[in-house]
Amino acid sequence: MALIVQKYGGTSVGSTERIKHVAGRVAAYRGKGHRVVVIVSAMSGVTDRLIGLARDIMPLPNEREMDMLLATGEQTTIALTAMALHALKVPAISLTGAQAGITTDGVHTKAKIQNITPKQVHRLLDDGNVVIVAGFQGQTPEGQITTLGRGGSDLSAIAMAGALKADLCQIYTDVDGVYTSDPRVVPSARKLGEISYDEMLELAGAGAKVMQLRSVEFAKKFKVVFEVRSSLNDNPGTIVKEETQSMESVVIRGVSLDRNQAKITLVHVPDQPGAAARIFKAIADSAINVDMIVQTASHGAGGATDISFTIDKPDLLKAKKVLDGIGNAIGFKHAAADENISKVSIVGVGMRSHSGVAAKMFEALADAGINIEMISTSEIKISVVVKADKGESATRILHRVFLE
Ligand code: ADP
Ligand code: ASP
Ligand code: MG
Repeated sequence: MALIVQKYGGTSVGSTERIKHVAGRVAAYRGKGHRVVVIVSAMSGVTDRLIGLARDIMPLPNEREMDMLLATGEQTTIALTAMALHALKVPAISLTGAQAGITTDGVHTKAKIQNITPKQVHRLLDDGNVVIVAGFQGQTPEGQITTLGRGGSDLSAIAMAGALKADLCQIYTDVDGVYTSDPRVVPSARKLGEISYDEMLELAGAGAKVMQLRSVEFAKKFKVVFEVRSSLNDNPGTIVKEETQSMESVVIRGVSLDRNQAKITLVHVPDQPGAAARIFKAIADSAINVDMIVQTASHGAGGATDISFTIDKPDLLKAKKVLDGIGNAIGFKHAAADENISKVSIVGVGMRSHSGVAAKMFEALADAGINIEMISTSEIKISVVVKADKGESATRILHRVFLE
């Protein structure tokens, strides 16, 4: 008898039919004698719809109220899933994140889990229930409702599996596993049997939304092995785990496309010690994550540079507000925003021991007439920013060059 944590994403619970199907799968596991904890997302489209409603009221809504609003999406699904299990005569109880003991910090809309005390989950399991927990949400020690960032139900599941010391953690989604690239963009992408935490981290950081980045960080830190698989069939999925030696023989594991980034360029920043520090401190203090940063060489008599950086698109309005507030004090001329970009990345642990990968990547893009606007690298990843309308073709070209 195993303790199993299963997470079902938005599409997998996107209609009452789908919820009934999920209940059937859960009931089958329980029928085999397993103890099952289920984490569910909001029904597909619901979170986006709620964000749209808030933006109709005002462009930059209060973030505490955003969390109050967004947490309702998952709350709908937990109750419906519990009912669907009741309809199959399976005892089940739904819990909010707070009731499941998920405590977070107070950074509304991007809260971090501080600890999980799943006392109630254990007690309800001991009484023979399937426990259904709302993904994406938690509560501060002061009792405020928080959410964990987009895609945060993945984090709820991994963290709950870690806290419960689950024997198995299964992430059910609308594709068969982690592929060499988004199968919706690259039809020839292949499903991977396994992938290392580090590669999954880089792919997720590069925009492969199949797993939320922070959930993979958590899994790596607490050594939670998990499987990504489809809720629509019984095919084996992808196991995400510690790196093994055989993984190194592959140079490139995958190609990611991120359409969710925006570029900001600060024009004519005084070339003095401390300018960059002040700019990025103000951005960080607003809980905005910066990805790539490029600074041009100093130009002009007074010594000024341009600094470009990328952030998540939904943070653009907030970032502009912060930058407009500090522009005069720091002395840059203005902040120009460009939403019309995509980031394309290649990832693989084998890159550590192979040279010439960057040259091959840039050459393939050049041959296709695709201009590179920014470049960044890590030990196992190379990312480039291109115009948004070139993102998909760049992804397919790099997949062909490195993976076919
Ligand atoms: P869920 O609602 O289950 O959390 P998501 O929409 O967040 O699902 O993530 C699944 C989607 O991720 C897939 O439908 C697919 O289009 C996309 N995706 C992007 N990159 C990859 C990849 N490398 N492998 C698999 N899916 C990917
Ligand atoms: N419902 C949330 C979102 O759409 C969390 C999740 O689905 O993981 O981002
Ligand atoms: Mg997701």
